[in-house]
Amino acid sequence: MHEYSIVQALLEQCENLAKEHHAQKITKVVTKIGKLSGVEPHLLEVAFETFKEKTVCDGAEFVMNLQDLILHCNDCKRESEQHEIRYQCKYCHGTNVSVVDGEEMYLMSLEME
Ligand SMILES: [Zn+2]
Repeated sequence: MHEYSIVQALLEQCENLAKEHHAQKITKVVTKIGKLSGVEPHLLEVAFETFKEKTVCDGAEFVMNLQDLILHCNDCKRESEQHEIRYQCKYCHGTNVSVVDGEEMYLMSLEME
């Protein structure tokens, strides 16, 4: 499953960061999930709960912030937030847009001990 490989990569990232900061364990993992990332939040949470055991994230709280798609229009230079999958500026209706946010999943922050 897609979510499983995402979580495994996420846990690896957490292990590395914990090592870097000489932390014993991680108590909170905060992520941002773009609504267009293709990640299913519920499945991601299940995967995290399954794989976190015996890792540095064992017992950690898992927080997911859902992120709408944010576009920057290269014509009218405005930013618009899209609640649906539409790569079109909502002000001038141009399609010369760049994605600012909402397409990826990111690790936002960690709390460690
Ligand atoms: Zn525009």
